[in-house]
Amino acid sequence: MNIHEYQAKALLREYGAPVSEGRAVLKAEDAKTAAGELDGPLWVVKAQIHAGGRGKGKFREPEAGEAGGVRLARSATEAAEEARRMLGRTLVTKQTGPEGKQVNRIYIEEGSGIERELYLALLIDRETSRVSFVCSTEGGMDIEDVAEKTPEKILSFSVDPATGYSPFHGRRIAFSLGLEGPQVKQCVSLMGTLYKAFTEKDMEMLEINPLIVTDKGDLKVLDAKLGFDDNALYRHPEIAALRDETEVDPKELEAAKYDLNYIALDGEIGCMVNGAGLAMATMDIIKLYGGEPANFLDVGGGATKEKVTAAFKIITSDPKVKGILVNIFGGIMRCDVIAEGVVEAVKEVGLEVPLVVRLEGTNVEKGKKIIDESGLNVISADNLDDAAKKIVEAVKGKV
Ligand code: GDP
Ligand code: MN
Repeated sequence: MNIHEYQAKALLREYGAPVSEGRAVLKAEDAKTAAGELDGPLWVVKAQIHAGGRGKGKFREPEAGEAGGVRLARSATEAAEEARRMLGRTLVTKQTGPEGKQVNRIYIEEGSGIERELYLALLIDRETSRVSFVCSTEGGMDIEDVAEKTPEKILSFSVDPATGYSPFHGRRIAFSLGLEGPQVKQCVSLMGTLYKAFTEKDMEMLEINPLIVTDKGDLKVLDAKLGFDDNALYRHPEIAALRDETEVDPKELEAAKYDLNYIALDGEIGCMVNGAGLAMATMDIIKLYGGEPANFLDVGGGATKEKVTAAFKIITSDPKVKGILVNIFGGIMRCDVIAEGVVEAVKEVGLEVPLVVRLEGTNVEKGKKIIDESGLNVISADNLDDAAKKIVEAVKGKV
């Protein structure tokens, strides 16, 4: 789960990280008061969307003005004016895709004088299964570009969980970033703070781009992007409460209500599978035969008919879906439950695309009978290979 910059900054501030004073607003009417509570001479007005590259972004509507999603203002009035221009408008950045994202919240912050822009991130290194620090002197830019063109400018190392964070980690970063004098001490302390926040809150990613040296020579967190491990969210209700539902795919939101492991993708073949491993294999084999999966969906082991019905409805609600593949290898999951769920869902929402069903395992005969007797126009398949071939052919035939 991701949160907004202003929420991330509030959290990091609680841990003691240096961030500017700021106020978040949802309505243009509140912007003037909010900006008035902050000290000048510089105000920064920032669109809050779950995507980076806001500064270099462009608004779709001309009323929003030429500038991007991060704007500097010289007075509280001007800051409120910029907030009004951006609210409700659509910001397109490198990370939003061409459709852009509607700006529903604005963060107004006391502006900083910038001496240097640096890059810092903490993430889980899957190779070592450890928390890694990544830093670079090339802050404020796309780190992917830096990694491609000048990889030598990126320092990355992981922390041994047995010993945890030690000041030498911070000194290594400070040295690599070319920090001097009191900045070294600030860096050692800030890195410890960030490591603590990262591990205590079960984050997957913490990115500060840029981390700046201010014109007064101090380190400051100027931007913050935090991602949390969904599987650990139950331990952090205060983090779960920060979820902005307008930023989440409605299909994923609906799936979460039914406790389904669903991830929307860009392809045309909707998949309903039991077991994460089988779901991955199903996606792979669809690709092998030249199709693209529209989603990842693991209905789980003990899914009820209601859950299966909900899952099927979510798949069919996706306008990109041109065909559906149900692939069930019933172990704990019973094939008849799946069959009932599918039939029930089709009764409610109809079926306008080809449906391939492959059932195997517990109660397979009962399941097949339910489908056969339902009168549904189902293409049955005997194994995964056959099923994938059939759904790809059916979809291609339609296009
Ligand atoms: P992003 O474009 O979505 O990554 O948004 P950022 O928060 O990183 O802001 C983009 C850029 O705006 C930064 O790299 C800075 O150059 C500039 N910026 C942001 N805040 C301030 C500020 O307080 N003062 C000044 N002078 N520039 C800022
Ligand atoms: Mn940034």
